Amino acid sequence: MPCLPPYTDGVVTIFLDRQPLPRIAVVMLAVAFLLTGCASGAAPATYETSASSGLETGFGGSAADGAAADGAAADGAAADGEAVAGASADEPVGVPAEATPGIDLAAHSPTDPASPWVVVNKRVAVDPVDYEPDLTTVRGYLVRPDVAPDLTALLAAAEADGVHLTLRSAYRGYSKQAAVYEGWVAQLGSAQADAVSARPGHSEHQTGLAVDVGGSSRPQCDFEPCFGDTPEGRWVAEHARSFGFLVRYTPENKAVTGYAPEAWHLRWVGRDLAGYLSETGLSTLEEVFDVPGGDYRR
Ligand SMILES: [Zn+2]
Repeated sequence: MPCLPPYTDGVVTIFLDRQPLPRIAVVMLAVAFLLTGCASGAAPATYETSASSGLETGFGGSAADGAAADGAAADGAAADGEAVAGASADEPVGVPAEATPGIDLAAHSPTDPASPWVVVNKRVAVDPVDYEPDLTTVRGYLVRPDVAPDLTALLAAAEADGVHLTLRSAYRGYSKQAAVYEGWVAQLGSAQADAVSARPGHSEHQTGLAVDVGGSSRPQCDFEPCFGDTPEGRWVAEHARSFGFLVRYTPENKAVTGYAPEAWHLRWVGRDLAGYLSETGLSTLEEVFDVPGGDYRR
C-alpha cells in the first residue's frame, strides 16, 4: 500500500471535515501511520538508496562514464546516511540492516603510479617509467607502506589456517626489471621473453603494490602453474581478496591482462576495491577503470 503523507487526500479531509476529532481517534490514526511505516519519507529513501548505489550504476565505459558512476555512488552514500538517520528517528520502517556499500571509483587515480589503484600492464607503462615508490619491508621484502598491514595480516591468517605461505618477490625497480627482462631475452628471444617476464616499466612489481608468494608444501611449484594446486595456492585464491589483494593473472583474465596465469602473483588494491570486484563479478582492474589491456603494441 502506498504511503500517504498526513497532508494528502484521504487524511486531510478527515481532519478538516470532522474537527475536532475525539482524542482517541487522533491517537489511533497516529498509531496506524507508525505501523504502516508511512509517517516519513524514510521508506522511499531506502528504495532510492539501493537503486542509486554505485554497484548498480556500473563502471566507466569511458572516463566520463566513470565520473558519472562515481557521482551516483556518492549519491548512494548520501542516501545511506538519510536512511540511517530515518531509522534512528524511531521510525519502524523497512531499512535494510546492510545497504550495499557504494565505492567512489574516483577516490584514487588509475594512472598515478603513487595511487593504490594504478593500472600497469603490457599496454600501459608506469609513468614516469622509472618511478620509484616509497617502500617499507615485510619479512624482508620491499612493499609500499600502505600494503604492509594487509600483507602482514594475510600471511598471519594463512599461518593460522595451517597454510605456510612464503614471500618470494615484491618490489622490483626499473633497473632490476630491465636486467631480469634482458636475461630472458638473451635466453629465449624477445617473443618468448615477453611471455614470461614484463618489460621494464610494465611490471606491477615496480609500483610496490605486488608480491609473489610461494608455499612450503611443494616449493618446487613456486612460480610454476602447479602452485595453484597447492594448499597455499588454493588458500590464496580463496582468501586474498579479503585482505585487499587480487590474483590478477588468471586463465580467464589472460586476454585482458595480457599475462599468462600466475596463481602466485598478488596485487594489492585495498579491501574496498577488492570487495567491489567480488560484488560486481568483475575480475580485472582494466574492466573497472576502462583501461586498455592485452598484449604489447609491437
Ligand atoms: Zn609477480
